[in-house]
Amino acid sequence: MDEIYVIGHKNPDTDSICSAIVYANLKGYIPVRQGELNKETAFALDYFKVPAPQILESGEGKKLVCVDHNEASQMIENWDNAEIIEVIDHHKINFNYGTPIYFHSEPIGCTGTIIAKQNLEAVKANPVLAGLLLSAILSDTVIFKSPTATEEDKAIATELAKVAGIEDMIAFGIELKTKNADVNGRSIEEIIASDFKDFDFNGKKIGIGQIEVVESAEIESKAKGIIDSLQSLKQSGYEAVFFMATDIMKEGTKLFFVGDPEVVEKAFGVKPENNAIYLPGVMSRKKQIVPNLEKAFG
Ligand code: MG
Ligand code: MG
Ligand code: MG
Repeated sequence: MDEIYVIGHKNPDTDSICSAIVYANLKGYIPVRQGELNKETAFALDYFKVPAPQILESGEGKKLVCVDHNEASQMIENWDNAEIIEVIDHHKINFNYGTPIYFHSEPIGCTGTIIAKQNLEAVKANPVLAGLLLSAILSDTVIFKSPTATEEDKAIATELAKVAGIEDMIAFGIELKTKNADVNGRSIEEIIASDFKDFDFNGKKIGIGQIEVVESAEIESKAKGIIDSLQSLKQSGYEAVFFMATDIMKEGTKLFFVGDPEVVEKAFGVKPENNAIYLPGVMSRKKQIVPNLEKAFG
C-alpha cells in the first residue's frame, strides 16, 4: 500500500503541525511539514514530548491529506502531481480538483477542533494527542479571543485539557502565545516570514503576514524596517503585501502594507498614514482581513 502523508500549509503554525501529527497517528498515516517550526509550535511539541514531523520537499507522486489549508498557493510544491485524497480545513474554500475526494470544512476556530470532534473517543484516550490538539485550538483561537472562536472550540478544548492534564488552560495558552510574540533576536524579515500566506485574489498575488504580540510598542517601533521589508517582498512579484501586528491584549491590529493605498482605504474605510492603518477589534486574518481585501482587489 502506498504511504499517505498528512501535511499542513507553508510556514506551518501550531494547528498545521499538531493536526497533521494527530490525524496521521489516528489513521496510520505519516505526518509531514512544509518548513521550519515556529517557536510556539516547538514549545508545544517539546511540552508533550513529541518529535517534529519530517519536512516533505515535494508532493510529486505522493498521496496527501491536506490539513489547515486548501488553497494552491499554500500547498506543497508539485501538489498538482500528487494525489490529494482528503482535505480537513477551516479556511475559505478556494479548491478545485479533478476527482471526487473527502473534503471536510467547518467555519470554526481550528482544524484541531474538527479532528477532535470526529475522533473524540480515540483522542480522549490519548493525553498526548489531546494535548497537541488543545495547543492547536488555543493557538488558532488566540485563547478564544479571536472572532473565529466558537463555543464548540471552547467546549472541545475544555475536554482535551482535562485529558491532557492541563489544569489551567488559559495560563497554558498564554505561555504558548508568548513564544512567537518574542521578537528578540529575530530579524524583521524572519518575523514577517514566520506566519506569511500567499493569496490569489482574482488573479492578483497578495501576501499577508501576521505576528500576534502581547505588547505592540516594540514591533510598532520597527515600522520603517517593516515597510522596507514589505517593499522588497512586493518587488518579488506581489500586487500588494500586508503585515498584521496584532496586539492580543488590546485586541486590535496595526496593518502595515505596501501597495495601492486607495484599495486599502476602500477595503477598511480608514485612510492610511505612513503605509499603515490601525484596526481596533481586528485579530483574524481569515475572517477580518482576507474577505475585505479580496473584495477590494476583485
Ligand atoms: Mg494555520
Ligand atoms: Mg488553523
Ligand atoms: Mg493563524
